[in-house]
Amino acid sequence: MLIDIHAISHGRAASVEIETEIPAQELAVSLQEIHVDRPARFQGRLTAAGDGVIELDGTLTTTMAGLCARCLVPVTQPVVVDVAETFRPGVTPDGTEAADGSYGYRGFALDLLPPVRDNLVLALPQRLLCREDCQGLCPVCGADRNQTACGCATAEEND
Ligand SMILES: [Zn+2]
Ligand SMILES: [Zn+2]
Repeated sequence: MLIDIHAISHGRAASVEIETEIPAQELAVSLQEIHVDRPARFQGRLTAAGDGVIELDGTLTTTMAGLCARCLVPVTQPVVVDVAETFRPGVTPDGTEAADGSYGYRGFALDLLPPVRDNLVLALPQRLLCREDCQGLCPVCGADRNQTACGCATAEEND
């Protein structure tokens, strides 16, 4: 996911617009049972901020998929992540985040993938629910309590 930055490096333009699609397998994001199963769309811009510093801002849009944490039905949910990051020339190996939170680049290309992936991981929820008030499965008989009142006596769950 290398972006050519010749245009802004040479001062011909202050910023360059980016509109790209990142395949799900490149993002390789999964957290517990939640994963991203569609290409992600990134729309934003790179702006030269002087001294080789380049600011990235934009929005990442994709869909995550997984199972409802309570009743285990498949759930998909849109994810929209605002991305705002800084690239500095040569300070860190490509693809890693420096102590100050910036990303390195060398030459006239920078890699969009590491900051986009890092932001996406942070945006994923701890769990998915098919709906906020999902009743879950009965721990005694396994019935879907959204569908049936099985009548089993169960201790109150502290979920
Ligand atoms: Zn559910
Ligand atoms: Zn039951």
